Amino acid sequence: MRNHKHFPATPALSVRDITYRYQSRFAKTPESVLTELSCTIEAGSLIGILGPNGSGKSTLLKLLARVFSAQDGTIELFGQDILNLSQAEIAKTVAIVPQETQQIFPFTIGEMVLMGRFPHHAGVGGWHWEDPADLAIVEMAMQDLDVAHLADRLITDVSGGERQRAIIARALAQDPKILLLDEPTAFLDLHHQLDIARILRRLNQERGLTVVLVSHDLNLASQYCEQLMLLNQGHIVTTGTPEEVISPDVLEHVYGCEVLVDRHPQSGMPRVSLPV
Ligand code: ADP
Ligand code: MG
Repeated sequence: MRNHKHFPATPALSVRDITYRYQSRFAKTPESVLTELSCTIEAGSLIGILGPNGSGKSTLLKLLARVFSAQDGTIELFGQDILNLSQAEIAKTVAIVPQETQQIFPFTIGEMVLMGRFPHHAGVGGWHWEDPADLAIVEMAMQDLDVAHLADRLITDVSGGERQRAIIARALAQDPKILLLDEPTAFLDLHHQLDIARILRRLNQERGLTVVLVSHDLNLASQYCEQLMLLNQGHIVTTGTPEEVISPDVLEHVYGCEVLVDRHPQSGMPRVSLPV
């Protein structure tokens, strides 16, 4: 029999030596924005990706969801090369909440969350929107994100916090094993930041959802993530627990400014402040 200590479960995502360049009209070989980057995201983890503006966080997240494909290297999703999977197959396992979500079409929140079910019906033809199994998953996703009472409201007619929760509910309605979020708390007030962080932690702890959270907010990441990965200029500078990553030496080197690190009064985890 297999001893799980010696044969750990297949990682949720396994990234090996990926290099990514955006196409350029001017440069024949544009500079890579991610360079020979390798990392492993274990199933069931809650991992934060940090780094200065332009360090490649959003690009990495898009590669993990195969919005883009790397020019070099491989990404395996539960052991399968993502290049061998269809978009619908990937979307049944990986959901992404992108950084910029311009919502142009005035769907209701209920309709929008229901669209999260689409990958589960792609290619089979004749999807009935009123399928009770789909509606049950949609209802649960809306309850998880506390937007069920807004199901009939237009997405264009709600607050920023409500809209962001509805967008995360749509991602959850995909019933993914991995949820990728790109700065989901940017532009939200403190209360809504806390709501989203707690919801993500609950989904991770209670349902084993693998959560990959790109954030600018070092303190939020330090409090809620078990593992952090710090990017700079397309490379991983360091990866480890918040204690290992949130250190003045590392942060000063990467962000190029003085930082103070003390302890959060409740959790004891590292807390970052800027000097006066
Ligand atoms: P982050 O999310 O960490 O701020 P990004 O992944 O968005 O970083 O960007 C990494 C680098 O790639 C930056 O230098 C950025 O200017 C560049 N970049 C991002 N998107 C594009 C694009 N669509 N075309 C060309 N370059 C891009
Ligand atoms: Mg970004």
